[in-house]
Amino acid sequence: MRFVLTGSGASRGMALGRARLQHPSRYLVDERPLPEDEVDSELDRLKRAIEIAREELALLRDKLHGAMAREVAEFIDAHSLMLADRELTSGIFDLIRRGRMRASAALNLQRDRLVAVFEAMDDPYLRSRKEDVEHVIARVHAGLQRESSSAERKLAERVGEILVTDTVAPSELVPLAELGVLGVVLSSGSRVSHGAILARSLHLPMVVAAHEALSTIHDGDLILIDGEAGEVIAHPSSADLARFRTWQRESLQRSRQLALLAERDTRTHDGAEIALYANAESAADIALARASGAAGIGLYRTEFLFLQRRELPDEEEQFLAYREVVLGMGGLPVTIRTLDLGADKADSSGLALDDEENPALGVRGVRLSLRHPELMRTQLRAILRASAYGPVRILVPMICAAEEMHQMRALLKESARDLRSAGHEIAENVELGAMIEVPAAAIALAGMIHELDFVSIGTNDLVQYTLAVDRNNDHLANLYDPLHPAVLCLLAQIIAIGKRAGKRVSLCGEMAGDRKHTALLLALGLTDFSMHPGVLLEVREMIARLDLAKLRKHSAALLRAPTRERIDRVLARMGA
Ligand code: PEP
Ligand code: MG
Repeated sequence: MRFVLTGSGASRGMALGRARLQHPSRYLVDERPLPEDEVDSELDRLKRAIEIAREELALLRDKLHGAMAREVAEFIDAHSLMLADRELTSGIFDLIRRGRMRASAALNLQRDRLVAVFEAMDDPYLRSRKEDVEHVIARVHAGLQRESSSAERKLAERVGEILVTDTVAPSELVPLAELGVLGVVLSSGSRVSHGAILARSLHLPMVVAAHEALSTIHDGDLILIDGEAGEVIAHPSSADLARFRTWQRESLQRSRQLALLAERDTRTHDGAEIALYANAESAADIALARASGAAGIGLYRTEFLFLQRRELPDEEEQFLAYREVVLGMGGLPVTIRTLDLGADKADSSGLALDDEENPALGVRGVRLSLRHPELMRTQLRAILRASAYGPVRILVPMICAAEEMHQMRALLKESARDLRSAGHEIAENVELGAMIEVPAAAIALAGMIHELDFVSIGTNDLVQYTLAVDRNNDHLANLYDPLHPAVLCLLAQIIAIGKRAGKRVSLCGEMAGDRKHTALLLALGLTDFSMHPGVLLEVREMIARLDLAKLRKHSAALLRAPTRERIDRVLARMGA
């Protein structure tokens, strides 16, 4: 029976696929004791389910493509090996045979036993591998629940999967996209989480905060998701499917129409030139940035090189990755951000602490980097070496005080000196800038602007820290407001101080790529935007409709408005 769940849209696009529930505890578990005469058939059911899980993994492995294919294949092989592991399976068979448990209950008991073993391990990497056990058991559970004929399974192979789960770590998303997952539905989460940002970058439609998803959608259900409206439709009707086909047709037309703007300059209607840079995490983003006519890369998030792996990437590997980006941009400036690990971007190497009470206020970004100067030297050396191939700027996240900038500059100078004396070719001058995303840095900016070659405003964090609203907490989504008067004050102040000091000020938070905010940001004096390349042409189109001189006249009124309601009124007068 058709039903609709409403959450919030986190990554645009529609997807039609089979729900893959990834939440082991939500599987139906039959705790009733198993009568003796059903033992054999229960064992057969379990064997069949393991077979289904194996077939699915083999199928997924065949579908792998792209840059991460090798790593993902290893991950799948590890899961297939686990399914073949007698230690795992014989324990479950035993629980059915001797313990007279039904397969689903036996699976859970065996899972809990193994998870407990992993949890007791000291090594953080091995500890995190308990997730593999959970994934594998979840696949077998799904196999058990799928009372499917082989004809149905064949059909299911043809439609892709949409992951339905409670939360997803950024590190899990890349392998999922590589596996051909078509979209993601989360029962919690927010649109400014790093997971959502990465989903947009991977072009994976995503709906977050669909609270009922895990209790109402079943594994294998056909679902249609709309990542813009934030809707999940289970068992879509023929009218829904028609809407999906219309969307497919229209989005193709729309991208053709926008593609015509790729070669154009970015100018307001009254002729002011605006610079649109791209945010990038992947090779696909770089290609899209070029294809959309971006002025350069305004934010290259390097932490994604560090996630989902045990060993840290060495200087050579990082250098090759950064050089790829620099070469890919063909002479346009590339802003590489130093590591911003920590908070919700935890790695598996054990670098980021995993037992902090308030990780967003903890050892993340530059704080983590300065605790590991060797790690920073390696990264700075790799970036400096890439600077021989095209213009590079370095951006430091989570700056809170001038001293942190001094330390980073000292590390940068030392790395440049060492490289030069070892005979490496590097650019003469590589600019060093700061992300302004902690209110302290925004408030004290006038005193430290002379230390910075440029600034980039990180509104995703600036909003969370200014308003004391966790960017990942869906229960506070209504309070996470980039248009709060305090945020507007800080934005105007940062832009004005930067301009007065003759420094470039760009804004690389998600609000830069949201057309709803373009007029407001222009009114506050912003001239450099950095956004996901997938929305760059839409923003260019919007800018071409706006008159900068007229918008600027409203800036004082915007900053005087004491409430959100009054701000909305000024925006309405501006026609925004
Ligand atoms: C920001 O905080 O606005 C930002 C761009 O950085 P991130 O989203 O990676 O924290
Ligand atoms: Mg940030």
